[in-house]
Amino acid sequence: MPEPLHRTALDSGPSPEAGPHRIPVPAAGPHRVVIVGGGFGGLTTARGLGGAEGIEVTLIDRRNHHLFQPLLYQVATAVIAPGEIAEPIRAILRRDRNVRVLMGEVEGIDAQGRAAILRDGTRIPYDTLVLATGATHSYFGHPEWERYAPGLKTLDDARRIRARVLLAFEAAEREDDPAARERLMTFAVIGGGPTGVEMAGAIAGLAHHALSQDFRRIDPKQARILLIEAAPRVLGTFTEDLSAYSKRALERLGVTVLTDHAVEDVSEQGITVQGRLIPAATVVWGAGVRASPAGEWLGVETTRQGHVPVGPDLAVIGRPGIYALGDLAMAKAEDGTPLPGLAQVADQQGRYLGRSLRDRILHGKAPAPFRFRSRGNLAIIGRNAGVVQWDHVKLRGFPAWLVWGVAHVYLLVGFHNRLVVTLRWLWAYVSFQRGARLISERDEAVMALIRGKTPAKLPPP
Ligand SMILES: Cc1cc2nc3c(=O)[nH]c(=O)nc-3n(C[C@H](O)[C@H](O)[C@H](O)COP(=O)(O)OP(=O)(O)OC[C@H]3O[C@@H](n4cnc5c(N)ncnc54)[C@H](O)[C@@H]3O)c2cc1C
Repeated sequence: MPEPLHRTALDSGPSPEAGPHRIPVPAAGPHRVVIVGGGFGGLTTARGLGGAEGIEVTLIDRRNHHLFQPLLYQVATAVIAPGEIAEPIRAILRRDRNVRVLMGEVEGIDAQGRAAILRDGTRIPYDTLVLATGATHSYFGHPEWERYAPGLKTLDDARRIRARVLLAFEAAEREDDPAARERLMTFAVIGGGPTGVEMAGAIAGLAHHALSQDFRRIDPKQARILLIEAAPRVLGTFTEDLSAYSKRALERLGVTVLTDHAVEDVSEQGITVQGRLIPAATVVWGAGVRASPAGEWLGVETTRQGHVPVGPDLAVIGRPGIYALGDLAMAKAEDGTPLPGLAQVADQQGRYLGRSLRDRILHGKAPAPFRFRSRGNLAIIGRNAGVVQWDHVKLRGFPAWLVWGVAHVYLLVGFHNRLVVTLRWLWAYVSFQRGARLISERDEAVMALIRGKTPAKLPPP
């Protein structure tokens, strides 16, 4: 049976004098687990190790909050406010006395010297390292598109998109030229996966219901909402009948769905597909993702999207003592297929890793392999319309919409968030209104972009 992994003076890493920013640690003592990332994967790992005597956990995140990404599109379309889907990481872990939280951005790993290195040079020593840094957008080799077509990953992204959508209607109300007005009232969502479908449906709900009575010169119901997908169908991970239903449901909401249309260019004027420019003031990117650069820090071979290959116990192949999970990792199901980038995968992996590290470190027990138990594939299209696929069970329409809502409220962190989001949804459902229609980013750069001019100072991507 393997030995428990307590730390000794011999394996304590470089000396405390190694650098000006090094946080001093005792030469011998508890086993130090450093977790990078407080998303679904990192947070559940930390919680699993909470209260374990003999283990000292440090969770590092560049943000101070855990974010519930599945509801970001509702912030971007003014259904709920940003604070309702975020919770301070410190507050979530406040009862776990052996867990400390550091706000900072990791920029590298010294695997030899066993330390995570922060942007300011601070070294955080570890005995075991867990990487859960998630993923970011990928623009298929066109990083310049990002300014014109923001993706949806963070609260700042959601606020920025909300400002652009609302400002486009404001600018259209003041515009005299019909062609310019049409461009302002055209919204293009690129990517027909769950994020793109949810965004397009939610923009349609905003334009055709919530804003429909509020303007005098324009009719928001005339807004043109396009969903552009390069593949032959939307929601390609669902069965063909659910995918076809989703397309019809989107069209009923007033969304024009263009499948088999690859985007060729994105600029301040709009998007180009099949050699034709479609003028659009607001473009949202929901097409590609790429894993965070943690694979580069480790110097390991990654997949084309930067995923770090891990074994059945989530250990990084060829890097003993280092684990990766969630959107960053390339883990496989029992049948050898890669696990998808989903919150439920990251959450289950975090629970597994918390338990298995505890057993490994404190009792020297080798863990059984990780097994993913799918809780189904869910997507929402709009009011009363959703799709659920779980083994042989398929739901569509209102029942799927209800299952989606209950599942997402249940998964939200914190009673306060669950209550407020439920009340907001109830209000939005009965009144058709959106309670978070605030334009907080009234800077000239965003307005200039919407007007089709490249401003002197572009908003940060
Ligand atoms: C718009 C949207 C909708 C989604 N909808 C669903 C859905 O309906 N159902 C579902 O199951 N999944 C959904 N997902 C996917 C799901 O959110 C992810 O699979 C999940 O968040 C992955 O968890 P993670 O812990 O790997 O990464 P994340 O949750 O992304 O967390 C990564 C954390 O690492 C931190 N970090 C990153 N780099 C560094 C660094 N260098 N230094 C310090 N900290 C760092 C980040 O700040 C972040 O807190 C959605 C995702 C998006 C973007």
